[in-house]
Formats: sequence, structure tokens, C-alpha cells
Amino acid sequence: MMDSNLDKIIYKALEGAELEKEEIVELLLLDKEDDLNKLFGAARRIRSREFGNKIFLYGFVYFSNYCRNGCSFCYSRKSNEIERYRKNTEDIMDIAVKLKEAGVNLIDLTMGEDPYYHSSGFEDVLEAVVRTKKEMDIPLMISPGVVEYDLIDRFKSSGVEWYALYQETHNRRLFKDLRKNQNYDKRMDTKLYAKNIGMLLEEGIMVGVGEKIEDIADSILEMKSMKADQVRVMTFVPQEGIPLQASAENDEYLELKTIAVLRLVCQKSLIPASLDIEGIDGLKPRIDSGANVITSIIPPSEGLHGVAQSCKDIDDGNRSVVTVEKILDSMGLKAATNMEYKEHIDQRMVQHV
Ligand code: SF4
Repeated sequence: MMDSNLDKIIYKALEGAELEKEEIVELLLLDKEDDLNKLFGAARRIRSREFGNKIFLYGFVYFSNYCRNGCSFCYSRKSNEIERYRKNTEDIMDIAVKLKEAGVNLIDLTMGEDPYYHSSGFEDVLEAVVRTKKEMDIPLMISPGVVEYDLIDRFKSSGVEWYALYQETHNRRLFKDLRKNQNYDKRMDTKLYAKNIGMLLEEGIMVGVGEKIEDIADSILEMKSMKADQVRVMTFVPQEGIPLQASAENDEYLELKTIAVLRLVCQKSLIPASLDIEGIDGLKPRIDSGANVITSIIPPSEGLHGVAQSCKDIDDGNRSVVTVEKILDSMGLKAATNMEYKEHIDQRMVQHV
């Protein structure tokens, strides 16, 4: 029997050939169960070929939910009247120790674009970075927003491996609506600077924010061409005080299809399954779609203000390493050891791919 066009595209991806934009669009538009299963199955095969049965676990420390910006999709946007906090170094160390002891492979130090840090040279953040590295020797990711190049140099020389800065879309017009009064090129140039000096780069997009399927395809190709080491997609979740409304024509499989297509296109990149959207219930479908990193793991009862769906499974400890490991085990997968994660990122940094 003649192979369908879908079979041909999937075969092409399995062979490691680059997909064209039209092919990516075709994959993102799939809506029949059999076709979706083919796509997700191919994504799992590629993940297994590249990473075996290992899944990486990331812990999360949210430094501060103050922010000078007004992104239309974000709960922490400046004008939203929410409870604000800024953690001190001791609080941060306390969470980092618990995360390390719980067994995460990396700690993600994230924050809003807090004017206090921006006006004080990020000295508190750098102090926390240096102490975490010295006392815990664990890989770090930093997500400080758009910062000056000399600060990125300081993060790198303090031992931070990863720089995360999400564009959310690579459609400039949509970017203007989402990241109000922010500069598209400055954001891109900042992350590319971090990549060029040898840091690992996480880039990301959001779906359900008014984008077209072609925009997602463009973003996937852009993330491929910038050689992002980790590529994430998240579904927009409307929350109180956020002006943006979810797209009316929201496709419930869109995030999962995007994860799978990212796996077909950026085969060697890490792809997160975020627990921020649906909590622990959303883990299995995202891993089944080809993700290989679980983000936003927190020590029980630490709270995680500042992220989408911040209440999901947090206070009952369901975002813990133990819960995640049980689910992975039921899927024939294993949490990677710290040594395995270190080997992966060392290799990636040496190749500087
Ligand atoms: S997405 Fe980031 S930069 Fe934008 S308002 Fe939220 S915390 Fe600030």
C-alpha cells in the first residue's frame, strides 16, 4: 500500500532529514487519533535513540515576582495587583539544598525583571549563584530576563551553565502584543550572546496566544537554526488580571503536537514537560509526546508563586521527585542521575552545537 504523506514525513524525520515548513504545518494540523499516535510514537523513538530511557529533572527557585514589564500573558506583570515577594539569599539556599537532596539534576533560578536587581547590579543573585555552586556543585540555569552582556559574562564565570530567555513567538507583530514595549531584537541578541560565549541556551514559545499554525512552524525552525539546547512550548493559561484571552479556536493537542514536532526537528535538544499547566496529571501526555525534561519540581510546601497555575499539586507535595519517579517507572523510564545529566551538558558544551 502506498505510504501516506504523513508516513513520508515521519520517515524523513526518523532518517534525520530536515523537515520543510509545509511538512511541519501538516504535522501540527493533525487531528485524527491514529495520525496523532504515529506522530507521538515517532517522537518517542527519536527521544529513545538520542537519550535512551533517561529523563532529566529540574528544580525551580523563583527569586522574585516583581517585574518592570507588562507582558499581556503574565500574572506577574507590573500592573497586576498581586502579592509580591523577593527571596533573600538564605531562603534561596534553603530551597536549593532541599531540591538537591530530593535528587533534581539542575536548579533553575528564575525571576521577573525585578527593578531592584536591575538597579543593584544583581549582586544578591550573583551571591546566591556563587554560594549554590560552592556548597552544592549542581548545574544551574538562570532566567533573569534581558540583561547586559557584562552581567551574562559574570553569570558564566560564576559557573552558571544555562541561560533561559523565551521569545514566546517569533512573529514580530504578535511579539509586540505579548511583550508590550519590549524590543524583539534586543531579546534575541541577548540570548544569542549567551549562546556565543558558550552558555547553553533555552528558548521557548507559548501557544494559545493568538498565533497561527504557521507561526509555530516558523518558531520551531527558528529554534532549530539558533541551535537552542533546550526548547520549550507551553500553553497559555488565562488568569485573573491578565489582559490576554486564550485563543477561541484552542486545539487541546496543540502543545503536545508542538512538543512532538520539536522532537522531530530538534532531535538532540532537551524538551521540557512543564508541570505548570496541568500539574502532575499533565506529565504523562507530555512525556509520551517526546519531552525528556521535567521542570518546575519543587520541595513540598515551598509555594511557587509567579508561574501559570501556580497552585497545581504544590501544597500536597505532588510535584516532588518521588511522585515523578513513580510515574516515570510506570512508563518504563528512569530519572537520570546527576552524573548522567552532567555528562550530557558537558558534551553539549564541548560540541557547542
Ligand atoms: S513574562 Fe517575565 S518579563 Fe513579562 S511580565 Fe512576566 S515576569 Fe515580567
